[in-house]
Amino acid sequence: MDLCDDSNNVQVFCRVRPLNDMEKHLPSKPFIDISADSRTITAHSSNANEPIKYNFDYVFIPPTPQSTVYEKAARPIVESVMQGFNGTVFAYGQTSSGKTYTMTGPNSEDPNYMGIIPRMVTTIFVLIENADENIEFTVKISYCEIYCEKIRDLMISSKENLKIREDRARGVYIDGLTEVCASTGEEIYEIMKLGNTNRATASTKMNNSSSRSHSIFSITVTQSTMDFSTKVGKLHLIDLAGSEKVGKTTLEGIRLEEAKKINKSLAALGAVITALSEGKKSHIPYRDSKLTRILENSLGGNSKTSLIVTCSPSHYNEEETLSTLRFGVRAK
Ligand code: ADP
Ligand code: MG
Repeated sequence: MDLCDDSNNVQVFCRVRPLNDMEKHLPSKPFIDISADSRTITAHSSNANEPIKYNFDYVFIPPTPQSTVYEKAARPIVESVMQGFNGTVFAYGQTSSGKTYTMTGPNSEDPNYMGIIPRMVTTIFVLIENADENIEFTVKISYCEIYCEKIRDLMISSKENLKIREDRARGVYIDGLTEVCASTGEEIYEIMKLGNTNRATASTKMNNSSSRSHSIFSITVTQSTMDFSTKVGKLHLIDLAGSEKVGKTTLEGIRLEEAKKINKSLAALGAVITALSEGKKSHIPYRDSKLTRILENSLGGNSKTSLIVTCSPSHYNEEETLSTLRFGVRAK
């Protein structure tokens, strides 16, 4: 093993959701197989002569519980954030493939269904509770979305079209984005819910779907010790816009613009993650989209990234699933 190789700082997972009611009623053959070691998906595409294999760090198949996805794909990241590193978790996939289910969880009060974000919050406060009492912690939260390359604050809904700036002290940051301190997990869940409500309201007002924007939930943990040394770890939890290709010929105006911007930013993200996982240290195309620009200080270097690609197992979604699997393996 090459010890200088930090390419394992990017891990790529695939989560296959169960068939939904509509898909269950389709007369379809099995479309994907998962290897016994849960690392390889074999797709039996109707357009290819031979089965195609896609390798991942791990593949979650139904009915994998939320807790397993959390332990494998997210806990290592939050633990390294608590040691002062940056970490990012992305959910990538077509609309209704399970991104929000994975990141936030379904609309349920049952803690077994909690997604990655609330579980990470719980872990952060447990680790703080058990830490050396001479360390002082601050936990700050912000929540925003990027729609058509415009950044909108999800905590204060009037703040739209925020600008990205950079300075020596803060690195790359979103100017004017609301940041609040939280001292309990419950406070953070409330912020998350408020942000989700604001997101839904804004998209209804603009007559678009929230699946057309990227949402970024960020947690910054600062630790100060008696000798005035500080450690800062930043965590970005990102529910990406649906990756589906929308029929270009049927689109015009704002919808076409929307589709182009989503394609461009997801392509930029793919290019950045691929460059990082190839071990590149320079010429990483962060500036090609708002999303990658915001994450410039949080991807690469000592930071850890999990990309979770989500997909449907049904033939009905074959084309989108293959495109999602390709995005995932390219990032590895
Ligand atoms: P997306 O955010 O990608 O558009 P959702 O997370 O909203 O998709 O999921 C679409 C539907 O499928 C929801 O009803 C959700 O509860 C269900 N679902 C998604 N993933 C799973 C899963 N792993 N297990 C059970 N149900 C799931
Ligand atoms: Mg969603």
